[in-house]
Amino acid sequence: MPKRRDVLKQISTLPLLGGLAASVMPLDIVAAPRHKDYFKELGIRTFINAAGTYTSMTGSLMADEVVEGIQYASKEYVLLDELQDKVGERIATLLHCEAATVTSGAASAITLATAGILSGMDEKKAAMIPHLEGSGMKTEVIMQKAHDIVYAHALRNCGVKVIFVETRAELEKAINSQTALMFFVNANNFEGKIRAEEFVEVARKYSIPTINDCAADVPPVENLWKYTRMGFDLVCFSGGKGIRGPQSAGLLLGRKDLVAAARLSAPPRGNTVGRCMKVNKEEILGMLIALEVYLARDHAQEWKMWEAQIAVINDAIKLMPGVETKIDVPPIANHIPTLNVSWNTKQVKLSGDELKEKLRTGHPSIEVAGGGANSVSITTWMLVPGQERIVASRLREALLKAAV
Ligand SMILES: *Cc1c(COP(=O)(O)O)cnc(C)c1O
Repeated sequence: MPKRRDVLKQISTLPLLGGLAASVMPLDIVAAPRHKDYFKELGIRTFINAAGTYTSMTGSLMADEVVEGIQYASKEYVLLDELQDKVGERIATLLHCEAATVTSGAASAITLATAGILSGMDEKKAAMIPHLEGSGMKTEVIMQKAHDIVYAHALRNCGVKVIFVETRAELEKAINSQTALMFFVNANNFEGKIRAEEFVEVARKYSIPTINDCAADVPPVENLWKYTRMGFDLVCFSGGKGIRGPQSAGLLLGRKDLVAAARLSAPPRGNTVGRCMKVNKEEILGMLIALEVYLARDHAQEWKMWEAQIAVINDAIKLMPGVETKIDVPPIANHIPTLNVSWNTKQVKLSGDELKEKLRTGHPSIEVAGGGANSVSITTWMLVPGQERIVASRLREALLKAAV
């Protein structure tokens, strides 16, 4: 048995950068000089994001092309509807669907989609939402209990009552003359008893429109057209997650008549539920550019880079006594290589939350996901390439310091 100190010595001399990583990652991660450090002036902490596309952590970083497009748009006036028309047509072509519009996020896409399904092309009805009583509009939305993560509020913005079901039999029984639509949360596909294909099949049988919330569901890139093709009438994506567009933008994709109806509730129209979900011209254009950049990316190569970055971090800690690592890819949402790190707290005297705090308060500050008693989880897709080496050495250092 080698002594623990010898093992640790070995670990600390392991090369942090594999051959593959070196070939795909630029070594220089120093950002271009900035004239003014606004966040620093405000006393706001910036950090290395090894956690993922969390709304609270401001989502993702936009590509230079997107920022350039945003700057370009900031210097011209256009008509908001004309911009939405043209950008929507372009996005629909790119994503192989009938129609598209840019919303202020996936949650906004869900609310606007619901409003559109309720009102149809009747502007008077759109103006009444969320007060449905006596309006002639339908009042119920059906979804699976297992899909009840927080976002059903986006439906309720429109005044509808959400009816929860668990089985296909319950679903078919719940459908009635007040059923406006059926709502599906794609990330929870495998948690519910009714899977996406069957959900669409039931909806078709009763001619009920469907919305699929796919907010965090790229990669893979094909998901951008998979679910409209599967038969969901409307599909929602976040702009500022895997697509790396503006964080306050999103996509509503699907049937032409329903996207048009949804836009009745969107700005510039004022007397609507969507008036407080404005997207400015900069972000509308930025969303389109982000999508073009995303579609043109070499996805296989990017995946290899993420794996190589995960390997750099994993290699730095996996042999530490008491530490266990596992690389996992969640099946749908946040479908990316994820490093799950756990440890025996008898050998490493530290909780997951304490480790997170150490990484957060050190320099540079690092955010990881998970936490709790004895684990954290790490992704690399939101890192600036090269930062994985910093994450690897800081993580190793924190675990080493706590080693008994
Ligand atoms: C992130 C998320 C949303 C909200 O998306 P925004 O673009 O922030 O509005 C909705 N549903 C799911 C499943 C999500 O992951």
